[in-house]
Amino acid sequence: MATAPTTPLGDPLRASEARARSAVLEEQILKDPGRFRVLTGDRPTGRLHLGHYFGTLQNRVRLQDVGVELFVIIADYQVLTDRDVADGLTGHVEELVLDHLAIGVDPERSTIFTHSAVPSLNQLLLPFLSLVSVAELNRNPTVKDEIARSRQSSVSGLMFTYPVHQAADILFCKANVVPVGQDQLPHLEITRTVARRFNDRYGDGTAVFPEPEALLSRAPLLLGTDGTKMSKSRGNAVPLAADADETARLIKGAKTDSERHVSYDPVGRPEVSSLLLLAALCQDRTPEEIAADIGSAGAAALKRTVTESVNTCLAPIRARRALYAQDRGALHRILREGNERARETADATLAEVRAAMQSHY
Ligand code: ATP
Ligand code: MG
Repeated sequence: MATAPTTPLGDPLRASEARARSAVLEEQILKDPGRFRVLTGDRPTGRLHLGHYFGTLQNRVRLQDVGVELFVIIADYQVLTDRDVADGLTGHVEELVLDHLAIGVDPERSTIFTHSAVPSLNQLLLPFLSLVSVAELNRNPTVKDEIARSRQSSVSGLMFTYPVHQAADILFCKANVVPVGQDQLPHLEITRTVARRFNDRYGDGTAVFPEPEALLSRAPLLLGTDGTKMSKSRGNAVPLAADADETARLIKGAKTDSERHVSYDPVGRPEVSSLLLLAALCQDRTPEEIAADIGSAGAAALKRTVTESVNTCLAPIRARRALYAQDRGALHRILREGNERARETADATLAEVRAAMQSHY
């Protein structure tokens, strides 16, 4: 959805360009899915939420199902970018695997893995760090926003270099498509820069890495119940795994405005518009249609509609999630196999990188 003219999460002009590019990319993918490889993922910092689902998760499954190869990274090291200790890590990782299985990611066809289990992926970080300047890292608006909200009193080197580890995460498997929310666009720009500079400096006329493109969904920036970006760590999210009652309670507490007539105006009325968009995404209709249905019935009626829509849309996912949750052993087996596949891929890429850099002794 549209954002206010100045936003900490990236220039809206860039976002509209990225959206136009996503539409073209979408057509190319459908024509020839075998040409594409997707890397996408999340930090295990808490339960996945509706912002994830409509911002990127739906795209992940859809791409898998049209035949694109999918890698899902669980970015466990990156939990430490904005906090000192990764609390409850094993539980969060299990929840992430469960969420992916519940939405339809198939571990036979797709690779789900944890960042820390793939040493050769992490080795790419050193050469990649040499390809970006401190000034470029300083300018990244998403890093600035995350630093502003960090739980740490000072900025760690890990936080500062966040976009460069993401470059390693994406390029280790030579992914050329990354389904993301809008906040990730500045990061992806750095990945593209790293790929381009590596190829220029070491490629000897051939491209070692592709320059990956962002694939934005219809909801690249879903707002949370407080009217800012819905995030796991901001206490403003509606988790996919919430039950119907928790969902109702969270949506009831969502911020709206004092105007009784409900209308879709993402710039002037961001909170009401985000709720309308949410109902629209769940019902596969437009936010304007939902607004017209509600008219002057007010925010309470809007929230009832949103709650019903979310609960209906998520019911099958929640049911599948409950089934998978019964077998924790299977979750760990899926991760072990995913880690093994990711390691093979990363080893092959690292070998190429070392050869390109003349580091073969
Ligand atoms: P944290 O608060 O711990 O950073 P998060 O909710 O921002 O968590 P991430 O793991 O950082 O989630 O993001 C995972 C993916 O989900 C990214 O591609 C991101 O762009 C997307 N995403 C996260 N929140 C939203 C949102 N509110 N709307 C659309 N996409 C989102
Ligand atoms: Mg985030």
